[in-house]
Amino acid sequence: MIIVLERNIRDDDKTRIREFLDQKGFRVREIVGEEETIFGAVGQLTIDLREVEVLRGVARVIPISKPYKLASRELKKEDTVVRVGPVAFGGRRIAVIAGPCSVEGREEILEAAHMVRESGAVMLRGGAFKPRTSPYSFQGLGEEGLRYLKEAGEATGMPVISEIVSTATIDVMVEHVDMLQVGARNMQNFELLKVIGSRNVPVMLKRGLAATIEEWLMAAEYLLAHGAEQVILCERGIRTFETYTRNSLDISSIPIAKKLSHLPVVVDPSHATGIRSEVPPVALAALAAGADGLIVEVHPRPDEALSDGPQSLYPDQFERLMRDIEALSPVVEKEVQRLPDKGVRVPAFAGVSEVAGDQLSIAFQGERGAFSELALLRYFQSEGVLPVPRPDFRSVFTSVLDGSCRYGIIPLENSLAGSIHENYDLLLQFPDIRIVGETQIRIIHSLIGTPTATMESIKRVLSHPQGLAQCARFLDQHPEWERVPFYDTAGSVAHIAKVGDPAVAAIANSEAASVYKMKRLKDGIETNPHNYTRFAVLARDSEVEVTRPTKASILFATPDTPGALLSCMAVLSKRNLNLKKLESRPIHGKPWQYMFYLDIELPADGGDFDAAMEELSAVAIELRLLGRYRER
Ligand code: PEP
Ligand code: MN
Repeated sequence: MIIVLERNIRDDDKTRIREFLDQKGFRVREIVGEEETIFGAVGQLTIDLREVEVLRGVARVIPISKPYKLASRELKKEDTVVRVGPVAFGGRRIAVIAGPCSVEGREEILEAAHMVRESGAVMLRGGAFKPRTSPYSFQGLGEEGLRYLKEAGEATGMPVISEIVSTATIDVMVEHVDMLQVGARNMQNFELLKVIGSRNVPVMLKRGLAATIEEWLMAAEYLLAHGAEQVILCERGIRTFETYTRNSLDISSIPIAKKLSHLPVVVDPSHATGIRSEVPPVALAALAAGADGLIVEVHPRPDEALSDGPQSLYPDQFERLMRDIEALSPVVEKEVQRLPDKGVRVPAFAGVSEVAGDQLSIAFQGERGAFSELALLRYFQSEGVLPVPRPDFRSVFTSVLDGSCRYGIIPLENSLAGSIHENYDLLLQFPDIRIVGETQIRIIHSLIGTPTATMESIKRVLSHPQGLAQCARFLDQHPEWERVPFYDTAGSVAHIAKVGDPAVAAIANSEAASVYKMKRLKDGIETNPHNYTRFAVLARDSEVEVTRPTKASILFATPDTPGALLSCMAVLSKRNLNLKKLESRPIHGKPWQYMFYLDIELPADGGDFDAAMEELSAVAIELRLLGRYRER
């Protein structure tokens, strides 16, 4: 049952309710949600709910209708986020686990670890105790394999996962791995589930070969009921009449499991298909269906693998898959998780601590919940960041310059509306600010009203003129609504929250609705779904060093002579440097003269970029490097 506690419950009342439930044989778990705090109570006995309802401090009692209780969404509305070291599963993230089917030796697993880490995996897999169909197949290296796996994880900064097949090995498993994997064949090994649960370590529970979704969730319930708090579900395909693939990926189980349960769902496209070439498309489909992550088999030399070689990706296939996932992530409104980036070094400097304590303060334009804030959370990805709202773009630059914020983020371009010219001009005016990173997000608008608003109660809709314009087709269906331009999208939500009138609604991103505790009346109301905004991350010159940059931005003016721009461009094309964008802006104070802004793709070895800059400085005027950076 779910016991919703009164908002201002006293501690001694809370203790009394707990004791009452303990005494009746219930296992109690406290869940602190955004809206309310609840006790989830499960046990073998049933009692009259009224006995609990009358206890002081209890607001209401709700029975859980599903046979799985602790795993159920009824108990906990918010997504559970499972944390394993620096990696988190669940919420708005995609986490990719990769590695060979089995640990085959020290060198092999170290090589695999470096390779998958380089491509973007955040956790390393490798079986040491292998449940093989044939007793004559490679059975894994056992404890020796676990030692190598742990070493490879430590060498690359990745937590590791390995399969547990027997209660007898629980101690050695827990000693070496960060997350236990319960394999498909053991999903209903209830004794194993109980022992694992009692250790309360992170665990990934694979769906059994022939298990229904309910049986799978009941198995998760065993883990939770015996004490596990960090459980991830893993769909890995089920047995069907189809023999072409090793199993059939039950793609619909992903949204269903996520609807029925608050636990994160990860998908294993390798065991689901058994065929290397089918792994990437199926992996992308799983993420499109809502999976929180993947576990993928990758081997440095799959043709020599001791197990599951035919379904293991070649290194270059995995690298390509990671890039495709990166491209898909803004579409599904998630961020691909990265381990702390070794490429970006941020030396500490005086001035930051006054504003942000130990947190990384990042300036953005707009109110809390703005698209820029979403973009910075996507780029920096850690909970240690402190988004600092600034009233306009110029103050984002000045906050970075005076050191009150360590970074800033600014939108540069929208895929439908084009460049944000003000920011190009500011880049020119602040020569001590550098671009050190880039990210993009998909722009999805929601119609947001006060908690009591309905579609019928609305008379006026507020938003930034861009927000109103981008939702024109939806607004056209309601000609009776007055469209009111406002200075900011998130600001319009803050405004309706303050006014509290169900007749006044706003258009902004759905996050703004949660920030201001307003109601989302309709999501995805933008006319064109291909709506993306690209952002630049700013820092003070010389304070951030970006290694292995993939892009550079420069600006320059040209002499007023025929072919002047062409000869600048020739410097780049001669060196095979690919131009990604060319923008021109009037130079303030010099009518009819222009500044050119160029984005250039950098080859992996940097190519001839330095030499090109050298040569450009001879033909261009006021040449300046805006920054070399990586896209995320
Ligand atoms: C594995 O992950 O290597 C494995 C054996 O998976 P499953 O239990 O899904 O067959
Ligand atoms: Mn395998």
